Amino acid sequence: FPSHDSRYEPRQIIHLLIKLITMNTGNIIKISGPLVVADSMKGAKMYDLVKVGNLELMGEIIELKGNTASIQVYEDTSGLIVGEPVVSTGEPLSIELGPGLLTAGLFDGILRPLNVIAEKAATQGLNSEYIARGLTAPSLDRELKWEFKPVVKKGDTVQAGDILGTVQETELIVHKILVPFGVEGKVTEIKSGAFTVTETVAKIGDTKVQLMHKWPVRTPRPYKNKQIPTTPLITQQRIIDTFFPIPKGGAAAVPGPFGAGKTVIQHQLAKWSDADIVVYVGCGERGNEITDVLVEFPHLKDPASGRPLMERTILVANTSNMPIAAREASVYTGITLAEYYRDMGYNVAMMADSTSRWAEAMREMSGRLEEMPGEEGYPAYLGSRISAFYERAGIVSTLGSEERIGSATIIAAVSPPGGDLSEPVSQATLKVTKAFWGLDASLAAKKHFPSIHWLNSYSLYKDNVEEYFINATDADWRDLRDLAMQILQKENELDDIIKLVGMDALSTAEKILLDTARGLREDYLQQNAFDDIDAFAPTRKMYLMLKAMMTFHNEAAELAKHNTQVEINDILDLSIREEIARLKNTPEAEIETIVPLIEKISSTIQNLKDNDKTEDFGINKVISGI
Ligand code: ADP
Repeated sequence: FPSHDSRYEPRQIIHLLIKLITMNTGNIIKISGPLVVADSMKGAKMYDLVKVGNLELMGEIIELKGNTASIQVYEDTSGLIVGEPVVSTGEPLSIELGPGLLTAGLFDGILRPLNVIAEKAATQGLNSEYIARGLTAPSLDRELKWEFKPVVKKGDTVQAGDILGTVQETELIVHKILVPFGVEGKVTEIKSGAFTVTETVAKIGDTKVQLMHKWPVRTPRPYKNKQIPTTPLITQQRIIDTFFPIPKGGAAAVPGPFGAGKTVIQHQLAKWSDADIVVYVGCGERGNEITDVLVEFPHLKDPASGRPLMERTILVANTSNMPIAAREASVYTGITLAEYYRDMGYNVAMMADSTSRWAEAMREMSGRLEEMPGEEGYPAYLGSRISAFYERAGIVSTLGSEERIGSATIIAAVSPPGGDLSEPVSQATLKVTKAFWGLDASLAAKKHFPSIHWLNSYSLYKDNVEEYFINATDADWRDLRDLAMQILQKENELDDIIKLVGMDALSTAEKILLDTARGLREDYLQQNAFDDIDAFAPTRKMYLMLKAMMTFHNEAAELAKHNTQVEINDILDLSIREEIARLKNTPEAEIETIVPLIEKISSTIQNLKDNDKTEDFGINKVISGI
């Protein structure tokens, strides 16, 4: 009993004592895989955290009938015996939030620090390869001291969400200590110096504030108001930013057939997007995929600072050999972490891989609870659970007296069996996510990466972020982008004609279009994640590349239209085409060299035209497109 702990005041100790005496202790009456049923759970509430059996396995009450509670257990239940005790903690499943989340970096679904657990298991002579059951450790290190720098003074009046002070959590991230939700008043004490997460650093009225606090994961963290997302998450991936953008605070779904490049995309986003913090949740993907992330992330460097990427990344990892119930916890844990850093004013990107496994866990628990099944055996509440999760994404004006904007963006992988998007999980996801990056196995097989298919994908955020891109590039941004997409779509139509009647039936203009489409696919949409230069494309480079390609296309199309003697080969033989193809290899420092190249494209085609006397026309004539 923590009576020696300075955190507890006499009033709190009495409260705890009463809680202990009246503690809701019941007994196991049934065990069915991850579901345990206990009776005599008088006073227990829905979603209370419970300790199950003599091993004190962690679980959560998901159904109550009278005093009988159904509990989903987050650890392996084998060996449990009917009659063993079940104790309710009287509190919902909560996680610890405070400095140290980014330094520990790696947690399981209920935010147990995996490295600490492994050490603990080793010292107890247990197999450290698996999490021994019932083993727990606080999420945040209790010994470590953090340098706290106050930003308020004694006597200041503060409200929930105000910044009390800061802690340099990692070299990349300043952790802001906020006035807890529900607290306001005068600062009666404020300290400065090195503190552990449980030491009091400030007092507001009589309320003591520590560096850490707890938050129930199923409850969204409050904010002042949600805003319409209009700033794109700049991913520096050409196909995403140009055609299927996602804003900060948006939600995107990525179906991921095996080998289609899902992991690489997630790495790319973690590395190159302008999110301040990345929360990666592996909820029960195949073991080896999680291993990829666990092995590779610690080696990745933040390109902007050269520091390890883990200094701004939190990994929450459940593999498929962990009990399925833990998947649900990990999804909620992940979004709570994202909201926590959002509240500090950061842009957080949460990646969840794969939400289908979470839905499968729901289906299994629902089956064991003998609930009425919905479509394909999923529970009837599948859709509402999924949308409640995505609703926690958003760009918000945070609590606090100063105006502070933070965002949580969700990028979630779905793995529909057989790639069939009509199944319930994909459908429920597509209803609430407004961007869809359709990874395509056939593109991956052709080594077209990223394998996001331009004809299957969409982003309903395109209009929201358009103004941002126009301001960041130029007024013709929208026209260039739309023209490029039209060319790609037209190519698809022409493909069918070619299959029927062959290439020869096409006009010169159509041949030009096919050539441009090929160029777009190979030199614009494809982007090599492993090439030092091509791995990322700043918005300016993206724009100039697109402009160069579309200028060539427009001018060539115009030439062919008016100068009937021009042969397609005259155009295809132009050496400038190679220069356009090489644009993706333009280093960041030389991006502006593309501007004179665009002029050169115009003059080169002008020369062709001058040599041809079919019809004279001004090169600056309005470009009509396709
Ligand atoms: P998944 O996670 O969907 O099974 P991966 O992300 O591991 O697939 O990708 C499989 C392979 O495809 C990678 O090992 C890599 O060789 C290749 N690949 C994927 N995306 C890219 C990319 N953007 N650039 C270059 N190669 C890529």
